[in-house]
Amino acid sequence: MAKSPEEEHPQKAFGWAARDSSGVLSPFHFSRRENGEEDVTIKILYCGVCHSDLHIVKNDWGFTRFPVVPGHEIVGVVTKTGKNVKKFKVGDRVGVGVLVGSCKKCDSCQQDLENYCPQVIFTYNSLYHDGTITYGGYSDAVVVEECYVLRFPDNLPPDAGAPLLCAGITVYSPMKYYGMTEPGKHLGVAGLGGLGHVAVKFGKAFGLRVTVISTSPKKEDEAINRLGADAFLVSSDPAKMKVAMGTMDYIIDTVSAVHALAPLLGLLKLNGKLVTLGLPDKPLELPIFPLVLGRKLVGGSDVGGMKETQEMLDFCAEHGITADIELIRMENVNMAMERLAKSDVRYRFVIDVANSLSQ
Ligand code: NAP
Ligand code: ZN
Repeated sequence: MAKSPEEEHPQKAFGWAARDSSGVLSPFHFSRRENGEEDVTIKILYCGVCHSDLHIVKNDWGFTRFPVVPGHEIVGVVTKTGKNVKKFKVGDRVGVGVLVGSCKKCDSCQQDLENYCPQVIFTYNSLYHDGTITYGGYSDAVVVEECYVLRFPDNLPPDAGAPLLCAGITVYSPMKYYGMTEPGKHLGVAGLGGLGHVAVKFGKAFGLRVTVISTSPKKEDEAINRLGADAFLVSSDPAKMKVAMGTMDYIIDTVSAVHALAPLLGLLKLNGKLVTLGLPDKPLELPIFPLVLGRKLVGGSDVGGMKETQEMLDFCAEHGITADIELIRMENVNMAMERLAKSDVRYRFVIDVANSLSQ
């Protein structure tokens, strides 16, 4: 018979898990593997709350393995290193993002694109090499193979820097890959949540003109005065949307729910590019006429590889880019999830794990 999560590994662990698709999280005792020769053990300090965590606890995508401990924006301190570990020592501040394993042999892995490895192992809700389920960062500690651990730059704050490990790399990687970094070009950012607000900051750091496209008029003042956006469009305002038609070179679409792509495609200029990053539970409709008639491109992108994630963290350290966060205690995580579901987020919840995880 399979062992219980509490007995399958030698190290005791404690976190918060959702037991079913109600998505309600509650305290959960489980275990972590022994620290192997290539592994580091990390005491978790902070963990961001990504909308993917919400999709998973609600089983929106239909493949959640309950009980699930979410969390893939982890910042912590190394407490143990295996004898072959070279990059890290005890006391180092480190980050863990969306993935903790891959095959290391396929074309994607060879190109530092472990995130596209067909055998990628995600930080939670995946099967690890030993067949046990991975558990994420809403927990006291994690054991991770060294090559999936990131150096966390000294001058990045560990709480406001945590969301960079998913939200940050998820917007940085497509901006680089799709060539959306040419200074002076006009970027639209659809959805001003965790991913979206970091996209605004990268856009400004790359020298772009940035317009937020949002369903929440009350976010306008902050978008412009705090996050540095140049303009704000409320997507339900047809008159303003009409004026903005054909003015954007690129759009990053971070919307987490099913929505119409036609208005976004209409905002693009000839040869414009729309990159969709959101993962709604149902397919979106792709209108072909505006694509064909405007030689427009629609693409997707999934987080980023380890090398690029390190590059992104170093870029953020250099340019002073962090997330705008609401720091919460673990016992408030269900409230945070409820607010996230209502787009009531400014602009990432981060759990103060080490100071609030009591048994
Ligand atoms: P978030 O903080 O909840 O932000 C999403 C934003 O989308 C909301 O704040 C809201 O912005 C807008 N929105 C929500 N419902 C909407 C609706 N019905 N119509 C129009 N706009 C709506 O979420 P997040 O953490 O940024 O994640 C966004 C999506 O990206 C999620 O689906 C997540 O799973 C996915 N994701 C993908 C990757 C990847 O690698 N591709 C990585 C991480 C996350 P406004 O209030 O401004 O309208
Ligand atoms: Zn995420």
